[in-house]
Amino acid sequence: MKKIIIIEDINKFYRKLFLYKSFLYKKVLFKSTNEDIIPLIEALNIKNRKKRIIYIYDYACSYVDNYMKKQNSNPCGFKNCKCIVKRKENSKNKNGCCRKCYLNTSKGCSTSNLTCKLFYCKDMKNKYKTLKIKDIKILKLLSFRQRIMINSCYFITRERYIKNLYNGSIILLFISNIKELGKIVKNYHKNKC
Ligand code: SF4
Ligand code: SF4
Repeated sequence: MKKIIIIEDINKFYRKLFLYKSFLYKKVLFKSTNEDIIPLIEALNIKNRKKRIIYIYDYACSYVDNYMKKQNSNPCGFKNCKCIVKRKENSKNKNGCCRKCYLNTSKGCSTSNLTCKLFYCKDMKNKYKTLKIKDIKILKLLSFRQRIMINSCYFITRERYIKNLYNGSIILLFISNIKELGKIVKNYHKNKC
């Protein structure tokens, strides 16, 4: 039978998180009734490393989406594939995103990219209360290196992103980013709605 740890003191929980997420607690089942940490508890109870990363990643993406939707259901003010900033600039680009990316479709982004979700232009920052990596508590379950990686994983699919986090290598991430840059250049002229 697995050992069970019941979490009651949240501050103590965050202080000991670096230990709880390590292999030392692989055979431990965590429990808590505190709503604020339930997603972290659920993640800690996933003992398979890849499955835990997937859970953390998907939870973080939905967290950012829901956080922004609570402020505005269409925060970037998209109309006819152009955001509010691009419309103000009279930009000819109509691509459902503010960047040139091969993952654009006529319905906008075809994937779920956490780094892109956390990108806010100056207009957005002035208009809304935006999120940073440190505001998303579940990301504390990732390693320091994985959290650094979140700053630069634009333009890639959810699957590639998860693979990068799983590998946890900055060098592999760099190589993967160069490859993705190649795809962006190749698809530069295809990004139209
Ligand atoms: S972040 Fe800014 S520039 Fe990018 S789509 Fe939103 S409003 Fe447009
Ligand atoms: S991956 Fe990022 S840059 Fe590419 S379409 Fe999606 S949101 Fe835009």
